[in-house]
Amino acid sequence: MPVPPVAPRLSVIVPVKDEEEAIAPFVARVTAVLDALREPGNVPLGWEILFIDDGSHDATLAAIHAAHRADPRIRALSLSRNFGKEAALSAGLDHARGDAVIPIDVDMQDPPEVIGAMLDHWRAGFEVVYGVRRDRQTDSLPKRITAEFYYRAHNWLSSDKIPEHAGDFRLLDRKVVEVIRAMPERNRFMKGLFAWSGFRQTAVEYDRAERAVGTTKFNYWKLWTLAIDGITSASTVPLRVWSYLGAMVALFALLYAGYVVIRTVLLGADVAGYPSMMVATLFLGGVQLLSLGILGEYVGRILVEVKHRPIYVIRMRIGEDD
Ligand code: UDP
Ligand code: MG
Repeated sequence: MPVPPVAPRLSVIVPVKDEEEAIAPFVARVTAVLDALREPGNVPLGWEILFIDDGSHDATLAAIHAAHRADPRIRALSLSRNFGKEAALSAGLDHARGDAVIPIDVDMQDPPEVIGAMLDHWRAGFEVVYGVRRDRQTDSLPKRITAEFYYRAHNWLSSDKIPEHAGDFRLLDRKVVEVIRAMPERNRFMKGLFAWSGFRQTAVEYDRAERAVGTTKFNYWKLWTLAIDGITSASTVPLRVWSYLGAMVALFALLYAGYVVIRTVLLGADVAGYPSMMVATLFLGGVQLLSLGILGEYVGRILVEVKHRPIYVIRMRIGEDD
C-alpha cells in the first residue's frame, strides 16, 4: 500500500533571481542545519526547501534541478518573468506545505543556524518569530541612514508598526500564512502584511553577514519604490495632510487679507509687493503639484488593484506540489 506523502513540518521558501552560483552552497549549508533539527522526542524534523525562481536569465534553474535530483525535498516554482521579490514570496507562501514557513534569502546573509531558535519560540506558542539584525555593520552608511529614516517614517505614518531592522527572514505559523494568503491586494509589501496580521510575535537577534556570492539585486531606486509601496499601502496620512496644510494656509491668507484691508484704509494703497506675491504664488504652486503627485501615487495604486491581475504567473514546477 503506498504511503500517503506526509506534509513537512517546516517549509523554507527562497526567492531567487540570477543566483546560479549561490544555489549549491545555500543548499549544502541549509540542508545540514535542517537535518540536524529535531522534533520533541528526538524525531527528525520533516522539511522542504521551496525555491521561487523569479525570472532568472542564468543557470539558476539548472542548479535547482540538480539540487532536486539529489534531494527531492528541494522543490521549486519558476515564474514566467521577473515579478519582484515580494511577488515571489507570495508565490512561496501559496505553495509551501509546512506548518511553519520561513522565508530566507539565498545569499546566506540570513544565517540558517537561527532557524533552531525560531522553532523553539514557535513551539513555545509564538505565531511569528522575526529575525532582527543586531547591528547593520555590513551595510553601507547611506543604506543604514535611509533604512533608519524609512522605519521611522513608516511607523510614524502608519498604525501597523513594522519592527525596526527586521527583514523578511522570519518564521510564520500556518495560521499567519493563511491570513496573508487571504489578503486580496496586488501590492505585496510583505513587511506591511506581516505587521497588519497581528498574532503573538517575538524576535530573535542575529548578525547579518555580507553577501556570500553574487551581487545585490536591489539598487536605491528599487528600494525607494519599495518604500513608497510600503507607505502608501499602510497609511493614508500622506493624502490627508494636505487638507490640514490647506486649511492653515487659508487661515493665514484670511488674516493677511484683513491686515491688507485695514492697512489700505489707514495708510492708502501702494503697488509694491511683487517679490512677496511671487514667493506666495510659487510656493503654493509647488505645494499643489506635490499634493497632486501624492494623490496620483494613490490613484495609480487603485488602478493596479482594480485590474485584479494575478500577482505572479507560474511557468513550471520542479517537484510535486501536493
Ligand atoms: N530577489 C528576487 N527577485 C528580485 C530581486 C531579488 O527573488 O527581483 C531575491 C534574491 O535572489 C535574493 C533575495 O531576493 O535571494 C534578496 O535579494 P538581495 O540579496 O539582492 O537583496 P539585499 O540583501 O541586497 O537587500
Ligand atoms: Mg542579500
